[in-house]
Amino acid sequence: MTFASLGLIDPLLRTLEHLDYRTPTPVQLKAIPAVLKGRDVLAAAQTGTGKTAAFALPLLQRLLQQGAPVASNALRALVLVPTRELAEQVHESVRAYASGLPLSTYAVYGGVSINPQMMALRKGVDVLVATPGRLLDLYRQNAIRFSQLQVLVLDEADRMLDLGFAQELDELFCALPRKRQTLLFSATFSDAIRTLAGELLRDPLSVETGMRNTAAKTVRQWLVPVDKKHKTELFLHLLEQRGWSQVLVFAKTRKGVEQLADTLQQVGIASDAIHGDRPQPARLRALERFKAGEVRVLVATDVAARGLDIQALEQVVNFDLPIVAEDYVHRIGRTGRAGETGEAVSLVCADEVDQLSAIETLIQQVLPRHEEEGFSPEHRVPQTGPGGVVLKKPKKPKKPKVAAGKGKVHLGNWFEESEKPNVRAVRKVPSLSGKKTNRP
Ligand code: AMP
Repeated sequence: MTFASLGLIDPLLRTLEHLDYRTPTPVQLKAIPAVLKGRDVLAAAQTGTGKTAAFALPLLQRLLQQGAPVASNALRALVLVPTRELAEQVHESVRAYASGLPLSTYAVYGGVSINPQMMALRKGVDVLVATPGRLLDLYRQNAIRFSQLQVLVLDEADRMLDLGFAQELDELFCALPRKRQTLLFSATFSDAIRTLAGELLRDPLSVETGMRNTAAKTVRQWLVPVDKKHKTELFLHLLEQRGWSQVLVFAKTRKGVEQLADTLQQVGIASDAIHGDRPQPARLRALERFKAGEVRVLVATDVAARGLDIQALEQVVNFDLPIVAEDYVHRIGRTGRAGETGEAVSLVCADEVDQLSAIETLIQQVLPRHEEEGFSPEHRVPQTGPGGVVLKKPKKPKKPKVAAGKGKVHLGNWFEESEKPNVRAVRKVPSLSGKKTNRP
């Protein structure tokens, strides 16, 4: 399936070619045609799934094809996001997708002066990315009018509620035109999100990222706890000791992929790399060499590895755990295909315990741990339990030391790093009109 077959127009297709997006991701496959038709969409999608392009591309196309030019202080599409970092990130992507199109884009968020934002909005903006609090401020100060609004996108809706934006959202929704298209993206679906979706969306198309939450039964999965700084050594040790003939290794970042592939080359192990910074012909060549058996270790990032079709692969290694839990299922799905057996090993350091916990919740199993002799971590990876929740083992508090001669009590560090309370585990389910907390 290509982007062209989803109904996108030539200028957007040229931009995608320039960005080297060859194949639509699952959420793009489903959302793009629906958004182009003007339907409301309710999508279960996390960062890393390509969700920004899934809403931005068809949204830009619709703005080009329908509606009057934007009036002063007006906007035609509004993308609400929970944090200023996400506002920047989403705006960067939207700007890239809109390059060459006669459409303006802008981002507003709190924590910076409001005046330049008010000035920028005077001319009107086709696509505005905003955090709810600052948007409401601008609206109250008459810097924004919503009368021309055609499309509303709620991105990471669950995080917006978690951060206590429910009241701002309620107030904003009252100010928006009723006749509009609404797209809601959320990683999780709590009751509060379902209520929100029920209030905002009309006959929405539900889009799942299509990822099965269970891994093939034929894949043996286990993990090795290890300190971050010893991961490369451990990988080399496992490769030789276990005699893996061919391995597909996943690392989190492009830099991480390059570093590991370079180290392997240096010690004489045939390896190649696949990541977003490499041109498509180089990625294809790496894959072909791997399939032909010329390369023993292929190192890849998640996005670049999407859609890789490698038959009869026995070994997958997660050098880093993925940020998005569903990517774990996707990664290990590269092995154990069509009833064949396979093995997926994850090298897990203490920093990754939240990701581990999320993966175990998703696949509904606790991954067996195998300590490798000589690689026992100094920074213990906290235990996880059924349901993936990190178990907090209350340790006996240390005896307070009395500073000699001064009679002062030194309390020390009450929690060791691995014992800090797991915020995710104790977080309450947000209510739609819940109290404001932790706002960015
Ligand atoms: P997102 O989930 O929107 O944050 O996107 C995650 C990353 O995937 C971003 O770096 C995008 O540039 C990239 N990306 C999105 N869609 C595609 C695609 N179809 N092909 C290749 N990369 C993509």
